[in-house]
Amino acid sequence: MQEKRGIILSGIRPTGRLHYGNYFGAIAKFIELQEQGHCCYYFIADYHALTTITDRQDYLRQTIDMLRTYVACGLDPAKSVIYRQSDLPCTAELSLLLGMITNIGHLERGTTYKDKMGKIPATKGPEGNPLSYGLLGYPVLMAADILIVRADKVPVGDDQRQHVEMAIDIAQKFNYRFGEVLNVPEAVSRNALRLPGLDGSAKMGKSDNNTLDLLDDPKTVLQKIKGVQTTTDPLPLDTDSDDPEVVIPKMPPSLGVLYRLLSLLAPIEVYQDFLGKYRRGEKFYGMLKTTLAEHVSKFNAPIIERFNAPGNDDQSVRDFLRANVAKVTPVALDTVES
Ligand code: ATP
Ligand code: MG
Repeated sequence: MQEKRGIILSGIRPTGRLHYGNYFGAIAKFIELQEQGHCCYYFIADYHALTTITDRQDYLRQTIDMLRTYVACGLDPAKSVIYRQSDLPCTAELSLLLGMITNIGHLERGTTYKDKMGKIPATKGPEGNPLSYGLLGYPVLMAADILIVRADKVPVGDDQRQHVEMAIDIAQKFNYRFGEVLNVPEAVSRNALRLPGLDGSAKMGKSDNNTLDLLDDPKTVLQKIKGVQTTTDPLPLDTDSDDPEVVIPKMPPSLGVLYRLLSLLAPIEVYQDFLGKYRRGEKFYGMLKTTLAEHVSKFNAPIIERFNAPGNDDQSVRDFLRANVAKVTPVALDTVES
């Protein structure tokens, strides 16, 4: 059997600033895989962002700023191939081909699509469903992003797991019809993270105005964390476990996000100490918030510094984009031509 080459691919939409969900759901893994010496392709999903962004200037600025944040977090354009999705237009050609064999019913069960459908008022306008064809077809374009570079692994957060599974199904169906043309990637691990929003909703998301961002300064961090709703009474935990996976889902969601962040950022003793306070029913919300804010600001400080560093300006981003798209283009053309 041919040995797996360990090609990694993942992307992020330039729809706002990178947040803690993006970092712990995706970027931390990107860095780990880069440092393990895999062949990594990390892109900015600017085609995908067009279902959300309407202003051209925002779109261009956010794309560049996101790339500068990638670098500030530790992604290295000399080790990983970092590129912009629209610089690889043959992805759109592959997406068209894959769309021909993709079942509409399958797409209508997509989580992002269903989620957005659920937010449309029951009394729709005269045109009916206002969502775009692009949003329904998001998983097909995402399948093309993955399959075009022959990726083996796709590190994404839990919210994107279903889309990767759809890409696997599409690739298998395509190969069944037309021969073994596409490389079928591995499924995403079951313990991928989904960080809740600061508003207590199930997911922190750039487009949802509920994020704690990697570039937030200390004042903003404190303001956002203090603003998390903690008026609800603590729920009984009915478990002795300290494991965040077990204990945090038993908390009210807004407290859950604070504890989850503390477990990711603070030393284990600090997290355990606050868990003890919770169990004993002590008054601790104020101290929990200021302690967490300190850890968040400490984590953000070097990222903010590297974001603003002289070697990480707009021009250096344009330069590495040009160099890196030249590395990915031959791989992609080879896939669409085969
Ligand atoms: P948008 O709201 O515009 O969709 P987003 O915050 O969901 O933005 P994406 O660009 O869609 O971010 O996703 C980038 C990566 O970050 C994906 O791998 C996704 O799984 C991961 N991710 C996004 N939000 C979270 C979250 N709350 N928890 C864990 N991972 C997340
Ligand atoms: Mg998203």
